[in-house]
Amino acid sequence: MVKFFHLERQTLRVRLTAWYMLLLALALVLFSSYLYLQLEKSLIAQLDTTLEVTASQALDKTIKREGHPAFQNNSESEGTTDRLIKTGLAVRLVDVCGTMWDGFGNYAAIPAVLPTSKGYVNLTARDTTWRVYSQPLPGNDRGWLQVAESLEPTREVSEHLLALMLLGFPLMLSIAGFGGLFLADRALRPIDRIIRTAQAISSKDFTQRIGYRGPADEVGRLATTLDRMLDRLQEAFERERHFTADAAHELRTPLTAIKGRIGVALSRSRTPAESENTLQDLEQEVNRLIRLANGLLYLSRLEQQEQLPSFSQGVDLSNLLTAFAEQMQPLAQVQHIHLDAQIAPGLLIQGNPDYLTNLVLNLLDNALKHTPPGGRVTLRSQQQGDRVEVTVQDTGIGIDDQYLPHLFDRFYRVEGARSRSTGGAGLGLAISAQIARLHGGTLSVRSFVDRGTTFMLQLPGVRR
Ligand code: ADP
Repeated sequence: MVKFFHLERQTLRVRLTAWYMLLLALALVLFSSYLYLQLEKSLIAQLDTTLEVTASQALDKTIKREGHPAFQNNSESEGTTDRLIKTGLAVRLVDVCGTMWDGFGNYAAIPAVLPTSKGYVNLTARDTTWRVYSQPLPGNDRGWLQVAESLEPTREVSEHLLALMLLGFPLMLSIAGFGGLFLADRALRPIDRIIRTAQAISSKDFTQRIGYRGPADEVGRLATTLDRMLDRLQEAFERERHFTADAAHELRTPLTAIKGRIGVALSRSRTPAESENTLQDLEQEVNRLIRLANGLLYLSRLEQQEQLPSFSQGVDLSNLLTAFAEQMQPLAQVQHIHLDAQIAPGLLIQGNPDYLTNLVLNLLDNALKHTPPGGRVTLRSQQQGDRVEVTVQDTGIGIDDQYLPHLFDRFYRVEGARSRSTGGAGLGLAISAQIARLHGGTLSVRSFVDRGTTFMLQLPGVRR
C-alpha cells in the first residue's frame, strides 16, 4: 500500500484512479440531482393531490349539505375536520373581497390572498411557506374555498436527502478511490514485471522472460506477446552469432591454406615450374574465397527482400527447365550418370529467371555431386492444381534423417562433406530455400541413406 503513494513512479495508476473518481463523482452528482429533483416534484404532486381531495371533500360534506357557515360542529363533519387539522391542513372560505369568513386548522397564519383562478400558489409568512389551493365556491356563493398545508415537512425530507448525499459523497468517493487504486495496482503489476525483464535484457543475454501466469487479458496478452518476441529475437540473435562464427571459420580455412603455400614457396628458391604450380594452387584457394564472398553477398541481398517486386515477369518454366537439363547433360555424361528430364509443357510462373536458374542448377549440381557413377538423376515438373511442382530426384548416397532439419541453414554441411573435394561452403541450399520463399513457394526434401534424395520445389502457378 505504501507503494501507492510514490506518485511520480505510479503515474498511470494515479491517473487511472483520478479519472475513475472524476467520472464517478460526475455520475453521482448527476444521478443525485435527478433523484433530488424527482423527489421534490413527487412530494409536491402528492401534496397537491391531498389539497385537491381535501377541497372536494370540504365542498361535498360541509358546504353543499350543511350550507353556510360551513364549518359548524356537527357529528358528521367533526371527525373529518379533526383528522384534517391533525394532518396539518388548514381550510378557509374567502369572499370576493378577500375577507376570510370561516375556516378551520391554522388558517389564520396563511397570508391573505385574493385568488384570480382555480389553482395552486406558494405563500410565505413568518418563515413558513404554505402551499395553497384555491377553488371557487359552487352555486350562488361568490367566494373561494382555500385549502393549505405547510411546505416545511416536504422541505425537511428534501434537506434530509441532501444532507445524506453530502455526507455519503466523500465516503463513497474515498471507498471507490482506494478500491480503484488497488485494482489499478493489481492490473498493472505485470507491467512492472515487464519493465524489470526488459531492463534485465542486455545485448548478450536474451534468456530472460516475463513468464506471466494469469488471465489472458490485455496485459496478459502483452506479456505473452513480448515473451514470444523475445523467443524470436533470441533465435535471430543466436543465428547471427553462429553465422559470424561460421563465416569466420569458412574464411580461415582457405586463408590458412594460402598462408601455408606462401610460407613454403618463400622458404627456398623455386624453379619457374614450381612457382607456377604454387600460383595455380593459390588461385584455387582464392577462387574458393571469391565463391564464398559471392555466395554470402547473394544470400544477404536475397534476405533483404521481403518478396519479389510485383512487376516480376512471367516465366515459361518448361522452357527454362528443358534448357537446364540440356546444359547439365555433358557433366552427367562425364560422371556416367543418367540425367532424365520429364517436364510438362507450358508451365508458367511469375518470378525472376536469374534466381530460378540459380535454384534449379544448384539442386541439379548437388544431385550430380552426390550420386555415384551409374546412378540416375531425374528432373520432373508438372502442374498440381494452382501450383507448379519441380522435383530433382537422385539415386545417390542420401542424407541421414538427423541432418535433414538443418539442411537449409546457412553454412550447414552434412558430416563428411566438409572435407570432401566436392564440398562447398554450405550456402547453396540456404540460397535455394530463400529464392523459393521469395517466389511465394516452398522447398522441401525427402531422403533415404544409400537410396537417394528428392528435393521438391512448389511455386504458385499463373492462371492462363
Ligand atoms: P554445398 O554448397 O556445400 O553443397 P548445400 O547447401 O548445397 O552446400 O548443401 C548442403 C549439404 O547438403 C551438403 O553438405 C551435402 O552434403 C548435402 N546435400 C545436398 N544435396 C544433396 C543430395 N542430392 N544428396 C546428398 N546430400 C546432399
